[in-house]
Amino acid sequence: MIIIVYGVTGCGKSTIGELLANKMELPFLDADDFHPKSNKTKMNAGIPLDDEDRIPWLRNVAKKLQDAAKEKGAVLACSALNEKYRNILKVTSNIEWVLLDGKKSLVEKRLGDRVGHFMNPALLASQMEALEVPDYGLKVTIDSSPEKIVQDIIKNFKKMESKSDFGVIGMGVMGKSLALNLADNGVNISIYNRYVEGKEEGVAAKVLEENPAYLTIQPFENISEFVASLSSPKSILLMIPAGKAVDLQIQELIPLLNEGDIIIDGGNSFYKDTIQRSELLKEKGILFVGTGVSGGEEGARRGPSIMPGGDKEGFSKIEGFLEKIAAKDFQGNPCVTYVGPGGSGHFVKMVHNSIEYGEMQAIAEVYSMMRNYLQLDPIKIASIFEKWMDSDLSSYLLEITIDILRKYENGEPLIDKILDQAAQKGTGGWSLNTALEYGVPYGVLGEAVMARNLSARKGLRMISSGLYDLERFPGIEDVDNFLDKLQAAYQATRIINHEVGFSLMLEVSEKNNWALNFSEIARIWTNGCIIRSKLMEELVEIFKESNHILLNYEAIIALKSYQGDLSYVVGQALQNGFAVPVLSNAINYLLGVTTANSPANLIQAQRDYFGAHTYRRNDKDADQAFHTNWKE
Ligand code: NAP
Repeated sequence: MIIIVYGVTGCGKSTIGELLANKMELPFLDADDFHPKSNKTKMNAGIPLDDEDRIPWLRNVAKKLQDAAKEKGAVLACSALNEKYRNILKVTSNIEWVLLDGKKSLVEKRLGDRVGHFMNPALLASQMEALEVPDYGLKVTIDSSPEKIVQDIIKNFKKMESKSDFGVIGMGVMGKSLALNLADNGVNISIYNRYVEGKEEGVAAKVLEENPAYLTIQPFENISEFVASLSSPKSILLMIPAGKAVDLQIQELIPLLNEGDIIIDGGNSFYKDTIQRSELLKEKGILFVGTGVSGGEEGARRGPSIMPGGDKEGFSKIEGFLEKIAAKDFQGNPCVTYVGPGGSGHFVKMVHNSIEYGEMQAIAEVYSMMRNYLQLDPIKIASIFEKWMDSDLSSYLLEITIDILRKYENGEPLIDKILDQAAQKGTGGWSLNTALEYGVPYGVLGEAVMARNLSARKGLRMISSGLYDLERFPGIEDVDNFLDKLQAAYQATRIINHEVGFSLMLEVSEKNNWALNFSEIARIWTNGCIIRSKLMEELVEIFKESNHILLNYEAIIALKSYQGDLSYVVGQALQNGFAVPVLSNAINYLLGVTTANSPANLIQAQRDYFGAHTYRRNDKDADQAFHTNWKE
């Protein structure tokens, strides 16, 4: 092992280098000892050395290092201020670079205390200017005792020698939080963030700077070094944006991995992309686990809900890590389960987010009716929601809404200052597309996506609001009575939102032979995730009986009792000029799904009329097709 301790004059290279050499039982070389007399004379006179003086001297030092490398190695103390000089000293790939770094005032003081050295203290300024700090090696501050500094250096070497059990790529909101969560749970991890010159530099190292207590985390911005720091089989979690970034990252990893290593994509990837990536990686013998993670930043840090799918062998190798960091359900079991094969992990996360869209929009519509129809202020609405939290309406989303409504800025509700433009980023729209592909009625959750799309058209809304100037009538009825009905309407909408989301999962699971276990999926969604709620806890039991919430006896009783109130609230909203797309779709769905004889017979007759599409009859064999000449 060759260790090069370097830095400006007066930083303590010789003292630290010699002490380190003693501790590590390596020979010590001081580059200053190899300066020719002419160099020493110049430096003594305060004249900086130039390349003509330095390069032959460094070549001579490099020769000594080469000799040492053939034996047991050495510790070298040398200024090595810039990359050009360091390159001369790189005689082997096995060099540990240790930069001694100190404030100018401290180094000046040390130089002032030094007697009998040939280096003139006046050279410090030029050396500090010449110092190029590289992005590799160790950087050690020199404001403690030489013994402590040497101890720190050795501790760091030990850390570098030991392999990590798990790697996380992407030190954004989620990756950083999951990494710290893993470390908190005793997992030795390496973290990596890409390097983009001038934009993304030292991101992984910064995580450690911000969290200095996490001594065992190893930060990297070189992908090969990151992968090399992991023990085998290597388990690598990607927490980066879905799409091209994931493909590029996987391509970069493939040549660095071996058969049996595991890549876990924890981002919100589209499940069909996950299926393709699984197939690609299977050919290379790399195990791919497409994993949904929910809970936002706080969940990732303290305990998310985790939905792994794909390669089961890969899952079994990382199950222990995931169980350590996951939230715990009401019985203390980790909110993580193997969801199923292929892209099912990401598919389930996609539907989770779709239900999240529906739940958020339902709360927004209820809020809008309270604010605009009943003319209640945010504080009052928060207190009503707080009462609802004591009922079976309790949910994480309602809980955070209370905090949001209570946030005031300069005496005014902050909510009123927030621009009313929401976007949909992927999972909501993908769910809707999938519902269309599989022919699943998805109106209620689809409306939540459409409501965001409409909100995004602020310009058009502003112009048409002025042009139409439609009247919006505030409520003139008994507020408490309406609030009771609104509560029931919201309860019904929530049940329907969940029914619709789970119906999509049922259809896709059956068609793909995924055998999704809905009770287990509901269980891992009872904590850690954004749609955790009392209702979700009830669904754990409901799905043990049936795959359809609507067929559950208690749900039937509840929906029958809420149906009138939901119809009433939607009717009042529409008659008085307030849009409630999710609530109105919920009542339409409920009425539609409970209608034995729908007007689709007329649709079939029309299709047969203009396109001879044929129809089937309810009084004949259902497989038989009929066509009528309608004009005769
Ligand atoms: P983020 O804060 O924007 O962080 C993204 C990370 O990915 C950053 O470290 C970024 O590095 C890195 N990155 C970006 N482009 C890259 C590329 N082309 N190659 C390699 N790395 C790249 O995002 P996030 O919120 O942590 O989300 C990460 C993933 O988790 C996404 O798929 C997201 O949908 C999903 N997710 C997010 C949440 C949430 O609440 N935020 C919840 C569940 C799931 P730079 O710093 O270099 O740009």
